[in-house]
Amino acid sequence: MSDINWNDYSLETQAIRAGHKRTHEDEHSMPIFTTSSYVFKSAEEASLRFTGQKPGNIYSRFTNPTVNAFQERLALMEKGERCLAFASGMAAIMAVGMGLLKTGDHIVCSRSVFGNTVIMFQNYFSKFGIETDFVDLIDTGAWEAAIKPNTRFLFLETPSNPLTEIADISLLADIAHAHNCLLIVDNCFCTPVLQRPFELGADIVIHSATKYIDGQGRCVGGAVIASDEIIEKYIYPYLRTGGATMSPFNAWVFLSGLETLAVRMKAHCDNAFDLALWLEQQPSVAKVHYPGLASHAQHELAKRQQSHFGGIVSFELAGGKEHAWRVIDATQMISITANLGDVKTTITHPATTTHGRLTPEARATAGIKDGLVRLSVGLESITDIKNDLLKGLGA
Ligand SMILES: *Cc1c(COP(=O)(O)O)cnc(C)c1O
Repeated sequence: MSDINWNDYSLETQAIRAGHKRTHEDEHSMPIFTTSSYVFKSAEEASLRFTGQKPGNIYSRFTNPTVNAFQERLALMEKGERCLAFASGMAAIMAVGMGLLKTGDHIVCSRSVFGNTVIMFQNYFSKFGIETDFVDLIDTGAWEAAIKPNTRFLFLETPSNPLTEIADISLLADIAHAHNCLLIVDNCFCTPVLQRPFELGADIVIHSATKYIDGQGRCVGGAVIASDEIIEKYIYPYLRTGGATMSPFNAWVFLSGLETLAVRMKAHCDNAFDLALWLEQQPSVAKVHYPGLASHAQHELAKRQQSHFGGIVSFELAGGKEHAWRVIDATQMISITANLGDVKTTITHPATTTHGRLTPEARATAGIKDGLVRLSVGLESITDIKNDLLKGLGA
């Protein structure tokens, strides 16, 4: 098994079989290695491993067989050279910043990235003299205009949350490279099953494994995938020192999450597509945001760039905040929570939760209307999901 070149296999197979190096116990399923340190055969071997002259485990802050298996598997699935796992998605983003940036550097970031990513760049990196300009995700001209001589990277998520806007990754990669910058894509919403940013020219891919990779809302984790050079020079030394390590238990949960990821993503997409079409037919719904709909402004781009349209659907109620809250409160089965990517359907009101700290003007600029409701469509029966929403929609 160790002789297999997993690059020759498809994503579905890599997701199930790659990364596990069977031990002398001949186990069929990946074990959890709960050990903080490892034993060396001699003082010389210890020295060679510590200096990196000989491969092998050293200490579980930066080398653990279960975590390694997860890293290898996710790197293959993303078609990246190397992956490093982190304690959370935010720890992965922090590591990219700490590894790549220095005082005086500049970032261009989409305005519609995960809220804590904005806070990380705006409130924390700024303390060390790193400036960030935020731009409209789909305004290519604004991205290029924001680039300065000291810009180190462009950072985005696509589709955006909660409006599912789609950025043209190839175009932005070309712009980044023409200005000697890196393009970083947070691929949390699509996962490698739906979108492979490296094939479109991205330099670094970020994951919050907490979402679809786990898929059942159990563990928090993250990952950075990049070239050997970027990982070896900038990210690995920071992980080794910074210590925001993924635990072997979480890696084990994420490994089994990856095994069912392709099947789950397809089912999430099918349910979401069905629901989006149905929502468009509801008289009280003013607008549905879903890249699979012909009415979506970047529908053609989504078709080109993604293999399917994802599990996130949002919709606007003509009746504003009151009606949005009524729909949310009338649900009995659907979970009222801001988490996403779970087999359980979740529902949120962005204007008063995830985007509640923004000023009304900033919310308007971001396109977050008071009547907007976001769904992370799960894998329950689509009929039961519709019936749960219908309680408040019709009322
Ligand atoms: C949740 C999320 C993160 C942060 O990940 P954690 O695992 O919660 O730290 C980053 N990016 C996106 C797009 C997310 O949805």
